Amino acid sequence: AMRAHKGWEQQWTSPEPKSEYDVIIVGAGGHGLATAYYLAKEHGITNVAVLEKGWLGGGNTGRNTTIIRSNYLYDESAGIYEHAVKLWEGLSQDLNYNVMYSARGVMMLAHNIHDVQVFKRHIHANRLNGIDNEWLTPEQVKEFCPPINLSADARYPIIGAALQRRGGTARHDAVAWGYARAAADRGVHIIQNCEVTGVRRAANGAVVGVDTNRGPINAKKVGVVAAGHTSVIMNMADVRMPLESYPLQALVSEPVKPLIPCVIMSNTVHAYISQSDKGEMVIGAGTDQYTSYSQTGGLHIINHTLDAICEMFPVLTRLKMLRSWGGIVDVTPDRSPILAKTPVPGLYVNCGWGTGGFKATPGSGNVFAHTIARDEPHRINAPFTIERFTSGRLIDEAAAAAVAH
Ligand code: FAD
Repeated sequence: AMRAHKGWEQQWTSPEPKSEYDVIIVGAGGHGLATAYYLAKEHGITNVAVLEKGWLGGGNTGRNTTIIRSNYLYDESAGIYEHAVKLWEGLSQDLNYNVMYSARGVMMLAHNIHDVQVFKRHIHANRLNGIDNEWLTPEQVKEFCPPINLSADARYPIIGAALQRRGGTARHDAVAWGYARAAADRGVHIIQNCEVTGVRRAANGAVVGVDTNRGPINAKKVGVVAAGHTSVIMNMADVRMPLESYPLQALVSEPVKPLIPCVIMSNTVHAYISQSDKGEMVIGAGTDQYTSYSQTGGLHIINHTLDAICEMFPVLTRLKMLRSWGGIVDVTPDRSPILAKTPVPGLYVNCGWGTGGFKATPGSGNVFAHTIARDEPHRINAPFTIERFTSGRLIDEAAAAAVAH
């Protein structure tokens, strides 16, 4: 039977690096690949290389729980995440690649009066921005997700929820592969096993290229899209980033028949869950409390999450877990991303997505490509500067939501 799987075409080519490109993107995660794709598609810039130290999509893109939503509190955040949701809606057609975007609804549970007030404030703010988000009573929660436990005896009883029906999930690997194939079709070079080890600059300070473990490569512009390792690379250009890198874990169960019809998030008990199309329960935890570059995490963190999942879904108590893993998330002080020019001419940075950047992948790549191509930000990402941490003009989703998956 395996004979049928022989002779498949490569989805993208793996060329040797050239000595010079117009643009180098550091990091072949979803955001980096999307940036390259939109540089080629919308700005006609095709002399582009995406350099990846490991394998394509092997970072947070391939490790996340794929929750997609745009119901953020602040106008700036709503703007960028909604730009992404609109692109998600047509992405499979645009890339001619099934990214399995599934708008099955994201339900955020309220367990106390504070949650109720915060979520209702979000709902009103979202409506003003034309973004769908609605309040559900406990009975409506149960109707939308029948296996949920509404018992008043629960440690944190469920007293309502905010539901974004256009929210949902997508297939993470397909997003990376789809962007990679579509970018390569337009002439972008995707170069795996190529680690950036230095940022090369001219006497006037401007970027002229990078050093890699496969030799130096010249470039007129360099975009750093390296998630948890962003501050390491920016250090090479003497730019100090307002970032801390933390492990964030997730785990999946053995596959079972369709049971959980939507995405459920609880910030208060710190657990979130959805069921993949293969039938696995996909479960996410909170970040570890210490900074680290190891792609694992503390056992007590996932134990705590499973306690919460079992209380919300007693029907899952005897399910076996198959795998757990971690990724490194890059966290800014206000929990909002940075997509911006930097103090170094020709160097651009897209980072700080922390625990919640997968949902932004198409929108982020789209406006970052604009920023690189025109050397000025798009209207949507203009507020997401590095300088906001010195000017004080924060986009404080940290205070708005405490977490932001
Ligand atoms: P990555 O995919 O990490 O890409 C960065 C790439 O840069 C990596 O492939 C890395 O190898 C490469 N790189 C690093 N250093 C170098 C170097 N020196 N040279 C060359 N390449 C280099 N977001 C959501 O929206 N919803 C969720 O449900 C969600 N759940 C998550 C669950 C977990 C467990 C984790 C870890 C993250 C989660 N996220 C979620 C966050 C999301 O995964 C990230 O914000 C997003 O994937 C970042 O995307 P990226 O493509 O920029 O990063």
